[in-house]
Amino acid sequence: MVNTFPSTPADHLRARLPRSLKRLADLAYNYWWCWAADQVSLFETINPDEWDRCGHNPVVLLESVSYERLTQLSIDPYYLKRINALVEEFDRYMAASDTWASRVAPQISKKHPVAYFCAEFGIHESLPVYSGGLGILAGDHLKSASDLGVPMVGVGLFYRQGYFHQRLNRAGWQEDYYIDNLFDRMPVELVRDAQGEPITIELQVRARMVKIQIWRVQVGRVALYLLDTDREDNDPIDRWLTGHLYGGNQETRIAQEVVLGIGGVRALQALGIEPGVYHLNEGHAAFCLLEVARLEVQKTGKSFYDIEASVRDRCVFTTHTPVPAGHDVFSADLMDSFFAHYWDQLGLSREQFLALGARRLGDPWEPFGMTVLALRLTRAANGVSELHGHVSRTMWTVLYPDRSEDKVPIGYITNGVHASTWTAALMSDLFTEYLGPDWQTRVLDPDVWSKVDQIPDEELWWRHGVLKERLIAHARYKIKHARQNRGEDWDFVKAADHILDPNVLTIGFARRFSPYKRGNLLLRDAERALKIFGNPERPVQIIFSGKAHPADEEGKRIIQRLMEWCKQPDLWNRVAFIEDYDMYTARKLVQGVDVWLNNPRRPLEASGTSGQKVCFNGGINCSVLDGWWCEGYKADASGKGINGWAIGENANTSDQNLQDKIDSDSLYQLLEEEIVPLYYNQDQNGVPHGWIRMMKESIKSNSPAFNTHRMIADYVTQVYAPGIQAKVALSLAKVPS
Ligand SMILES: *Cc1c(COP(=O)(O)O)cnc(C)c1O
Repeated sequence: MVNTFPSTPADHLRARLPRSLKRLADLAYNYWWCWAADQVSLFETINPDEWDRCGHNPVVLLESVSYERLTQLSIDPYYLKRINALVEEFDRYMAASDTWASRVAPQISKKHPVAYFCAEFGIHESLPVYSGGLGILAGDHLKSASDLGVPMVGVGLFYRQGYFHQRLNRAGWQEDYYIDNLFDRMPVELVRDAQGEPITIELQVRARMVKIQIWRVQVGRVALYLLDTDREDNDPIDRWLTGHLYGGNQETRIAQEVVLGIGGVRALQALGIEPGVYHLNEGHAAFCLLEVARLEVQKTGKSFYDIEASVRDRCVFTTHTPVPAGHDVFSADLMDSFFAHYWDQLGLSREQFLALGARRLGDPWEPFGMTVLALRLTRAANGVSELHGHVSRTMWTVLYPDRSEDKVPIGYITNGVHASTWTAALMSDLFTEYLGPDWQTRVLDPDVWSKVDQIPDEELWWRHGVLKERLIAHARYKIKHARQNRGEDWDFVKAADHILDPNVLTIGFARRFSPYKRGNLLLRDAERALKIFGNPERPVQIIFSGKAHPADEEGKRIIQRLMEWCKQPDLWNRVAFIEDYDMYTARKLVQGVDVWLNNPRRPLEASGTSGQKVCFNGGINCSVLDGWWCEGYKADASGKGINGWAIGENANTSDQNLQDKIDSDSLYQLLEEEIVPLYYNQDQNGVPHGWIRMMKESIKSNSPAFNTHRMIADYVTQVYAPGIQAKVALSLAKVPS
């Protein structure tokens, strides 16, 4: 049958492309391209300026670039060769049936995939429905699941305006603004039925029925479904239910979590997908458990308590929050206004229903906790690092009064990062040469990584230097624009062209500016810091980036403090702040810095992943022993770091002020006595062999452990399909080439 009209957005785009470039439409509508080998040049080559202007969105690029330019490319044999090779690889990837998961865990079938629920997904900067670490982790989870062939679908929300954007005013104060996501121009597709009508589901939110439509994002072999209430047939207020990520008050929050959890289950049902496992990534999605239970009660006619075990059997939970106050809880009042119509359908009384989320039974003032609900109704729960697993068991003993703390059933699977997404193409290329062309599929194998020793120092140093230059160019560009937009003095705007120096030891610090992350710890003794950074012989420079949550006044004050520090005459070219942190700036940073600094208040960093991204690019971590770094850091017999540095060792006190002093003193001392001397001990060609030894140790020891292929293998063997021999699974961890 011949289609006489473009039926999907990809068809529509294809129709516009010259004959030899038609397959670009398929690449544009599958985010696989963003971790493919040719990611740098594939779309950017078409028109670099336009590429930046459209936020690295390939659909917008291909729709807006001139037909003249497209036909120019369409006769360029070099470009065509590259595209054809990439398309071939893509087709092979999409069609492969002999995958790691198909061999190791055939019981997870395409018919009954894992449904992975999360409030945010960080796939790429052109799909801004993420705020930070949780979302990036979720994106990397889907990418590795796709690579390893784990049948999986993602479920999230499609926020009309995503997370807020950050702009700093002249006083260094963060201002927030929002930009509309233009769904029609994004690499996503509205899911439609055979008649071409959008598939919708209905959901009662407070007193009204809300209609929800579903968008599909293709992430390699994995489909990510995003729920959207912005439809004309909804009440104007309900259209904004999926307006902002983490934007509103408790009332918006619970409404969004109802849409995600209950709506998510209904959406999968409407799509004909019957998950074998529901994986709730953080408590936001825990209402999903109620809907799974409701469907079961309806189907079987049994009571809630009779089907409870069968719900638990299909559901698993990952917790991410190491402090009690960080877990979502809702008052009984709020629960009444959202669920008064619902508990009947479960065959429960109000008291029985509210008890599902109560930490202590029988306490009428107990709020409804999402983590409590999740722990009660899932068969497996885990934290995201060894230390966080321990902290979580302590925190939740209250739910298991008949068990000792070490028997609390919360394990851990340490987070990782998706190697192909975060490794610079220039490094990836080097690894291909020295570790072998299959290093990405054998990323778990320490033997592969041991070959890093064979890379000549000069070669590694040269490539790292180029990536550092790239980072500095990005920083200058962003800072110049920010100053211009702020209406700063023209001399000050122009000075941005000269800040930072590729020959200077460069530290990166980028993450959310939550007070516990102590973004200004380095300034605790401003004079000592000035001596380190302003040293004329052996200077140090630092690049900051990150947002404070709009309601976090203290976080905003920390940013303001940094902006004041930037303005000191001695430091004008040594300290930089890049506004509006996103995945693009993150890539430039983790690929270009010498040292990645992380100094949270222990043990509040559940895992952290940005430091892991740095390892794949030859950066070295200098971090408090918290989260993943407790497992990554290696020291020699004398206590000196081999693959990075540990701030403050394990010293712990509950006096925050004292802890800040201990940790900042330790950080200054590390910089003065170890980091700066090691970096500047260079041979006559400017190559620091001692430093490079540590770079190689960092790459070798961390890369095989802290990647999402290892993490997915752990989830498959320990959580999704427990009982598989983990060792067997790991040795088989290869993706089809
Ligand atoms: C990796 C990443 C994070 C997480 O950083 P942490 O240091 O682990 O908190 C946050 N935001 C972006 C954009 C990232 O790429």
